[in-house]
This record gives sequence, C-alpha cells and structure tokens, in this order.
Amino acid sequence: MSLRYDLHSHSTRSDGLLSPADVVRRAASRGVDVLALTDHDETSGLAEATEAAREAGIALVPGCELSVSWQDITIHVVALGVAPGDAAFAAGLGSIREGRSARARRIGESLAAAGIPDAYEGAMRFVTSERLVSRTHFARFLIDAGHAREMKDVFRRYLSPGKPGHVDHRWATLQQAIGWIHGAGGVAVLAHPGRYKVAGERGMRQLLAGFRDAGGDAIEVLSSSHSPAQAVRFATLARVHGFSVSAGSDFHGPGEGSLDLGDLPPLPAGVEPVWARW
Ligand code: AMP
Ligand code: MN
Ligand code: MN
Ligand code: MN
Repeated sequence: MSLRYDLHSHSTRSDGLLSPADVVRRAASRGVDVLALTDHDETSGLAEATEAAREAGIALVPGCELSVSWQDITIHVVALGVAPGDAAFAAGLGSIREGRSARARRIGESLAAAGIPDAYEGAMRFVTSERLVSRTHFARFLIDAGHAREMKDVFRRYLSPGKPGHVDHRWATLQQAIGWIHGAGGVAVLAHPGRYKVAGERGMRQLLAGFRDAGGDAIEVLSSSHSPAQAVRFATLARVHGFSVSAGSDFHGPGEGSLDLGDLPPLPAGVEPVWARW
C-alpha cells in the first residue's frame, strides 16, 4: 500500500492557525501517513509535533521553510529531514528571523503612507509567536479591518512587490540556506516554483539551474500554489534538471488556502519522489 505524504505545512509557530500538535492530529485524521511541519524560518514547533505524531501513529519529518533572496526575488526553500539542533542551521534561521521585526515596522509605515494607519499594531494582534511576524499577519489584519475580502486579494492589492504595503528585504542567500540545510543532514526543496515572478521559461530555467548549482536536491511539484498543468510542467522540469520531486499542501489553517492537509493528487509519472531518499 502506498503512503500518503504531505511535506509542507505551517503552525502557530510561524503563520499557521493551528498549534503544531493540532496540525499533526488534523493530518492524521485526514489520512496523512507522513507529515512534514515546515514553519517559516523556525523549528520550535518540531518537538511538540514529533510527540503528537508518536501519539497519533504517523511519521513526522522535521522540516522548515527558509526565506531566501535570489537575484531580485524572494524564494522559499523547504528543508526536510533536518536536525533542528544543528548549531549552524539554528544560527542561520536566527539570522533570517532577526530581520523580520524591523521589516514589519517598515511594512506598517508603508501602509500608513498609503492611508492605512496602525497596521503594525494591527498585525501584531494576529501574531501567534513572538519570534515570528510575517506578511500573513498583516494580511489577516487587513482583511479583519475590511481592506480586502480574502488572502489572495490582500496580497494582490497590498503586500506584493510594487504595492503600497511591500518593502524590499534581503533574506539569506541560496548558498547559505542550502549549506545550512545540508549541514543539518536535510534535503533542500525549492518550494512552489510556480509562484515566482521570473521572466518566462528562460527565467525559470535560470532559477532551476541556480538552485541545482547551489546544491538543491528537489522541487515541489504538487502544491496548493500549482494548477494541474503546472504540476505536469514542473514534473517535466524536474526530470530535465535532475531533481527529485516533493508534494505539500502548504496548509496554513482550516478555510485558508485551497488545499487541506493531505489533499494531494498522485505524483505525475516518471519522477523520483524525494522520499525515495529516506
Ligand atoms: P513573509 O515570509 O513574511 O514574506 O510572508 C509570506 C507568506 O505570505 C507566505 O508564506 C504565505 O503564507 C503568504 N502569502 C504570500 N503570497 C500570498 C498570496 N498571493 N496569497 C496568499 N498568501 C500569500
Ligand atoms: Mn506562510
Ligand atoms: Mn512559501
Ligand atoms: Mn509554506
């Protein structure tokens, strides 16, 4: 019998809505056999998740989603199977998280200049871990305050590059992120490649080549950010570039995002799943 994998999810330790244990219990109740908790730039939920997974009888892959600057865009690299206690990895994540608070202040100022006052204070009311503030918390505030109806809307109108609530920020480099992940014994997965604003096929080829040259191991093919056609496209690109493939719902909470935990179709044919390495 084949196992059901979901290798990308978030808890209240970053910008998810459920506690680490509740994410695990929900995954188990929905038939997930192998779950990765991959909070943004943060691994503090893994101990609780591991314990809950033991109780629920499912496998928990220790993970993390790292924020990375590549050329002039932000990309996300999912680490799977990492040892969270690895000193260089933990210090690297700490350095990524450090910039987030100052960035949040600047997002608040930029929204104020666009006519939305007190957004920083508003976003802080939605923060669930003092260690991590993200654009998602601003998004939840902006929806709550009636500036947009849903997540997609908020990001399109306020929080994406070129919009009033967006500020530039430098995250880790790709080389740093992959070095930390490999040093901690993990594999490096390019998250939701379909989301990045690169210049067409050529831009995507450059990104994938850059990711491979930096030591990247796999790319996400199945994701809530991908259409069925994109899943096929990225499966093909994975084969061409010699990557394994991963699958993850990128679950943030009930009713948020298009996929619930474990809601993933089978992988397209002819690819090597990242879990074949375990
Ligand atoms: P940050 O890491 O603070 O820049 O926040 C990024 C987070 O915002 C992502 O992990 C998603 O949870 C959320 N996000 C980004 N773009 C969108 C979008 N277009 N629709 C919904 N959520 C988004
Ligand atoms: Mn997120
Ligand atoms: Mn992401
Ligand atoms: Mn994610």
